[in-house]
Amino acid sequence: MPINVTVWNEGRHEKNDTEIGKVYPDGLHGAIKKLLETDGDFLITTTTLDDPCSGLPDELLEKTNVLIWWGHMSHEDVPMELALKVQNRVLRGMGFIALHSAHMSRPFRLLMGTSCTLKWRDGCRERLWVTDPSHPIAKGLPETFELKTEEMYGEFFDIPKPESVVFTGWFNTGNVFRSGCCWTRGAGRVFYFQPGHETNPTFKLPEVGLILKNAVHWAYRVNILPSIDCEQVTSPLEG
Ligand code: ZN
Repeated sequence: MPINVTVWNEGRHEKNDTEIGKVYPDGLHGAIKKLLETDGDFLITTTTLDDPCSGLPDELLEKTNVLIWWGHMSHEDVPMELALKVQNRVLRGMGFIALHSAHMSRPFRLLMGTSCTLKWRDGCRERLWVTDPSHPIAKGLPETFELKTEEMYGEFFDIPKPESVVFTGWFNTGNVFRSGCCWTRGAGRVFYFQPGHETNPTFKLPEVGLILKNAVHWAYRVNILPSIDCEQVTSPLEG
């Protein structure tokens, strides 16, 4: 059985800014798909906010095993109803991978339950360190690698305590950041990955491709529950 991976991209920077369009002529979603498609286990669908049903009609969401999400300037244009459907499917077992500025996306904030705010400054140099080397998402990676230009995201990052911090970013501004974090939510798994600002060719780096492929395999759950409706249970002590 293939793993159905859906790459959801806001997709507006690439259309509205010619410089960003040059970095990602096929959109961020196209570049992410290219990184993933070397893995024969994946059946990849790409979609964007301006596609019908904000890119995620029920039929697509209901067949998705792992959803990858990149958003930045239009978080509020994602209907809350859709964000709640994504949250519900994660609680039932879908994997969710939030990239870069998706830390402020509605689905991610619903899943975290905190503000997810952080410090930021564009145009920095980043060194990413593997800080959980035995974790499946770190498989095959060097101890550290450099991103020549990336947006600095700095602590404090207002997230619930992660189950693992697989990557920690250091920036030439002196800031540090929990750049790769894992959580379990209900039956589902969530991974957040910090690199991936729209003006940088981060989604062309082989190390990033390996991280995303590892993250899809880690987030994939064999079973997705049909519903999480709770039934009232009578106490065995009653009656
Ligand atoms: Zn950014």
